Amino acid sequence: RHAVSLRLPPGRRSLWPTAHSPLLVRVALPLPIDEAFTYAVPDALRADVAVGARVVVPFGTRTLTGVVVDEASEAAGETKDVLDVLDDGAAATPELLKLTRWVADYYVCAWGEALRAALPSGLDVATEHRVTRTDVDAGAVRPDLVAHPVTGAVLRHLDAHPSVTLAGLRQRVPAATLAVLRRLERAGLVRIDTGLSEPRVAVKTEKRLRLAPAFRTAHAARDAAQHVRGVKQKAVIDALAAFLADGEPEPAQAAVLARAGTTASTLKTLLAQGLAEVFEAEVRRDGLGAEGAAAPAVVLHERQRAALSEIESAVESGAYKTFLLHGVTGSGKTEVYIAALKAALARGRSGIVLVPEIALTPQTVRRFRRHFGAGVAVLHSRMSLGERYDAWRAIREGAGPDGIPIRVVIGPRSAIFAPLDNVGLIVVDEEHEASYKQFDPAPRYHARDVAVVRARLASAVCVLGSATPSLESTHNARAGKYALLRMDERVPVAGGLPAPLPPVEIIDLAREQKRHQLDGSVSKALGDAIGVRLARGEQTILLQNRRGYAPVLECEACGWSPFCRDCAVTMTYHKAKGHLRCHYCGRTAHRPAACPKCDARAWSLLGTGTQRVEEELAVRFPAARVVRMDLDTTGAKNAHRTILDAFGRGEADVLLGTQMVAKGLDFPRVTLVGVVNADAGLLLPDFRAEERTFQLLTQVAGRAGRADLTGEVFLQTRRPESRALAYAQRHDYDGFAASELVEREEHGWPPFGRVVGVEFRAVDEDAARVLAGRWTDAFREMVGTAFDVLGPNPALIARVKRLYRFHTVVKVPPGAPPVQPFLRRALAFVPAPPRTRVAVDVDAVALY
Ligand code: ADP
Ligand code: ZN
Ligand code: ZN
Repeated sequence: RHAVSLRLPPGRRSLWPTAHSPLLVRVALPLPIDEAFTYAVPDALRADVAVGARVVVPFGTRTLTGVVVDEASEAAGETKDVLDVLDDGAAATPELLKLTRWVADYYVCAWGEALRAALPSGLDVATEHRVTRTDVDAGAVRPDLVAHPVTGAVLRHLDAHPSVTLAGLRQRVPAATLAVLRRLERAGLVRIDTGLSEPRVAVKTEKRLRLAPAFRTAHAARDAAQHVRGVKQKAVIDALAAFLADGEPEPAQAAVLARAGTTASTLKTLLAQGLAEVFEAEVRRDGLGAEGAAAPAVVLHERQRAALSEIESAVESGAYKTFLLHGVTGSGKTEVYIAALKAALARGRSGIVLVPEIALTPQTVRRFRRHFGAGVAVLHSRMSLGERYDAWRAIREGAGPDGIPIRVVIGPRSAIFAPLDNVGLIVVDEEHEASYKQFDPAPRYHARDVAVVRARLASAVCVLGSATPSLESTHNARAGKYALLRMDERVPVAGGLPAPLPPVEIIDLAREQKRHQLDGSVSKALGDAIGVRLARGEQTILLQNRRGYAPVLECEACGWSPFCRDCAVTMTYHKAKGHLRCHYCGRTAHRPAACPKCDARAWSLLGTGTQRVEEELAVRFPAARVVRMDLDTTGAKNAHRTILDAFGRGEADVLLGTQMVAKGLDFPRVTLVGVVNADAGLLLPDFRAEERTFQLLTQVAGRAGRADLTGEVFLQTRRPESRALAYAQRHDYDGFAASELVEREEHGWPPFGRVVGVEFRAVDEDAARVLAGRWTDAFREMVGTAFDVLGPNPALIARVKRLYRFHTVVKVPPGAPPVQPFLRRALAFVPAPPRTRVAVDVDAVALY
């Protein structure tokens, strides 16, 4: 049953003082106008409207969903009526109202836009509500509702048509609002089911396989293999036996077939012979599967205990505080988060854990699940609308007296808005990750910074963790805004010393080439090291931060290259599919046989993508089992998990991929990490290029030799002199931070002051240029010399998805007045004409 109902604290029907019925309310709408609009509350809805409730209102010729943010005392002029109320109670808690108001002010957007980011989508006017009559006798229990003109009409209509959509019902009874129907629902007379844009199945099932009862032991499973002749059938039995040995006696059919490398048709014989059985089993909607055994208790080592005790006493004190937990990869930060969460929970408070989307691996989630069981709600972007709404509602209701007691929420950046009550601890893991910043649509918020603000609002403790903290956070720690906790050594291996950080070797590709040692993209040294791992049965992670086969296809005769029609970038050649693909808009095109410009038929492939490295490995190490992980191989829903699980089980020797392979993985048999080309990020015209490269290299290097086997790292580069590489080689965060901070201060870049990116977009190039010029001129005039205004300039990628882009960069020096009021004024003063757009990005993380 999916009725929309939100439980409020016990004894409260609404967040309004009960003696008080609002006549006028202010409603924030998801429009780029930061203004709340005043609406009248009609009598029929008086009991249902509350601050924080979502309401349906007329706006011009449209009908919009907004959030009641306040009561209004008087209206200027005529007001329209609220049409309906979506939730039974408040969707946005007072804390979320405050938080979103801050987001709107700081990131210069409308309150309604910030609220839209905070509340789950999929529950708005476009949603389909189905109303079903129950078998409760209306006349017996509520004669008043039968007599009432509106509810009476609804009941009579439902007597003839027991299940109707709200839209259908309204055609017959126009006054049938959701609020009216909810009154009937509370009386037990109807049920309201809220359908989302996809069919909602109560229980989702999948096909699972198991061996016939007689063969369900490891020994007997081998017997089963004797009974089959076909190679493919044997492979299936072997796969089932392998799953059995892993403690999974009933694996998903799809997983078995993937492991056996065959298709469902192979199963026919096996099932007919009675060797295996197929059955349907429920799939958890969060797609994570069983939790596994309860977590083994780890005894925290000294450094962990020291960090934990500081966090604990802050939680204990019940006051706001932010920590920066700077711990090298493998120093045991996650165990500290878990212990700190337990401390917060023990005090009756709840917790939020933010992780970068890419690190939201089953591995991470399982670790938390094993400690907190079903009390953990997981939010992630691969969830369908329905799954996300379910999770959101469970979290919101979990705060109620009889809901599921959800105490911990894990998710990517949007989870910072999780409607948890009484948050006591917020963890931001890998706080330096750029993916915490949202770019489109507004609000362009940074979840790490919102986390700090939410912690302050909730008198909670915020822990920012990283092996390579952002320079902003390091600067804040130096300035005393955050308390610094350090864990400089890895977790000691069983009874011994901490595993050392792996030695890092830098390979100068240009020199290798001169010595004629370079054949393809993998140097001799790295290739030899891979060979050693293969021989020893150890694993390798290879990073090539570019997908596809080759980023540039070039005519050997005239130098022509295929460009995307809609974006100013070359199209990447994908050899497996034989086509060209634009990585900005996804458009594909055939690879031309002959050059359209000069008709020559000789092509060079410049640059190297993951597919090309994969091909090279196949030639060089034909026996090696290589799995590739990039956007092209992880499109399917659980692909990411499947690849990592297979690698974790040792079913592959090499994990090759884009930056996806750099984050948060912990595989004990990985002893070699190779970065095929460390330079890609250094070439971007962005003041954070060195910082990002340093972080990526340090993170990926940290994947090597995490357990009892020592590791080794090779970084291949054409710019061996870069600072990022030199410091990454020595695992020297402090050295890097010190030298980079000097540079930043000299040039007035963050963390010394702020930076705001303003982007102008239009289909028409002139329109974009003219708007950029006008806006920037007006802004310059308003701010005088308070800020440094650079531009406008065409963006590095001057055109994306048919839109021309221009940029203006505003540098706000330390101690300058807040820039936000000036930005608002300029936006109001130079409105974007139709079909053009201005996007303001406060604390922009990418300036190209
Ligand atoms: P980080 O998050 O800093 O990379 P983790 O918390 O993932 O580090 O710890 C790295 C590995 O060490 C994990 O496998 C974890 O289970 C293990 N570990 C962490 N703390 C301890 C401890 N005190 N004793 C034993 N093993 C530990
Ligand atoms: Zn040509
Ligand atoms: Zn494109």
